[in-house]
Amino acid sequence: MKKDKDFDTLAIHAGEKEAKAKNALNNPIYMTSTFTFENLEHAEKTFSFENDDYVYTRGNNPTLKVLEKKMAALENGCDAVAFASGMAAISSVILSEAGPGNKVLAHKVLYGSSYNFIKNILAENKIDSKLLDFTDLNKLQKNMNENVSVLYFETPANPNLDVIDIKKVSKIANKYDAKVIVDNTFATPYFQNPLNLGADIVVHSATKYISGHGDVVAGIAVSNNQNYIHKLKFDYMAEYGGVLSPFNGWLLLRGLKTLSLRMNKHEENALKIADFLKNNPKVDNVYYPGFDDREDFKIIEKQMSGYGAMISFELKGDIEKTKAFVNSLNLFQLAVSLGDTESLIEYPFAMTHRDYTQEELNELGLSKKLIRISVGLESAKDLISDLEQALAKI
Ligand code: PLP
Repeated sequence: MKKDKDFDTLAIHAGEKEAKAKNALNNPIYMTSTFTFENLEHAEKTFSFENDDYVYTRGNNPTLKVLEKKMAALENGCDAVAFASGMAAISSVILSEAGPGNKVLAHKVLYGSSYNFIKNILAENKIDSKLLDFTDLNKLQKNMNENVSVLYFETPANPNLDVIDIKKVSKIANKYDAKVIVDNTFATPYFQNPLNLGADIVVHSATKYISGHGDVVAGIAVSNNQNYIHKLKFDYMAEYGGVLSPFNGWLLLRGLKTLSLRMNKHEENALKIADFLKNNPKVDNVYYPGFDDREDFKIIEKQMSGYGAMISFELKGDIEKTKAFVNSLNLFQLAVSLGDTESLIEYPFAMTHRDYTQEELNELGLSKKLIRISVGLESAKDLISDLEQALAKI
């Protein structure tokens, strides 16, 4: 599906008429749990979906509808479902496509809670799972069979920025009727549209760049299939109950209006910082999708229109040096999460990814020394000075 307007226009205008805001420039926040009916006939028609009226916010709400339509427009889907968090979206979407006896295959590098959900929680629901390297398409092909109902991955992946070929993985999945679910949190719809490349469902931790201001926890799922969206909304979001507050939905709408501006500046800063790190003798490996000497750079150029602002790296020397460096930063703040105006630094395998055991890290080829930064919107010069002074201390 081709977008009928440019991204910047859609980010501001798409979906805004859904809540029938009359002549207000901005939509109101419909902070109401319930909606009233004119009479019983009206109630019955609404309950049986003969009209688009609202019943109860844990199902549908006008503010959330604007958000869902806007995100669908930006991701080139037909509709979306807002959730209380990225994990509410991810768990509901996976469970909506995998039942007892099915198998979920996932790329080996994932955000910590997604990793725990797939590796441990699915088994409690009698759903089999396997983590493997999706950059190795032959290996993926060998693991496919008729029980596989879901292929799940992040691209770029958290925390080491692995990039997965969405088009090629979707081709393999199609042959087995398995659904491809892509976590597009790092790239955002501004830099990547997985549905255009064959994915079935896109999920976001909207807590991150979609909000952009570090003041909301939220999730969203987008698809091109209206029947699927109906099922996800009413059988999963509404019944598991992971509904987003309309107030938080409104904050996301406010964030989305500046997504393109923010992503351009995040990326401009990240390119400078990635370059600085790569050329610093105290830095060992730097992982950033914008490096043209990456083996997978052709895939990146094909499926992304920008590189984002997440960078991972390792320092030379022992782990104590890494800890001293992290503790010496002033402008970069030590915190989980990402995509905020403020630059953040985290130490994944002591923080968000602490569920990975040392044995698993060895198996997956991940270093315990990995540091992840989310480059914010401050001046690149000041951010580089901060990195420089912390590197000088080790
Ligand atoms: N996906 C990715 C890539 C993430 O980084 C995160 C959180 O850090 C999540 C999903 C989970 O999102 P939330 O914290 O909004 O539940």
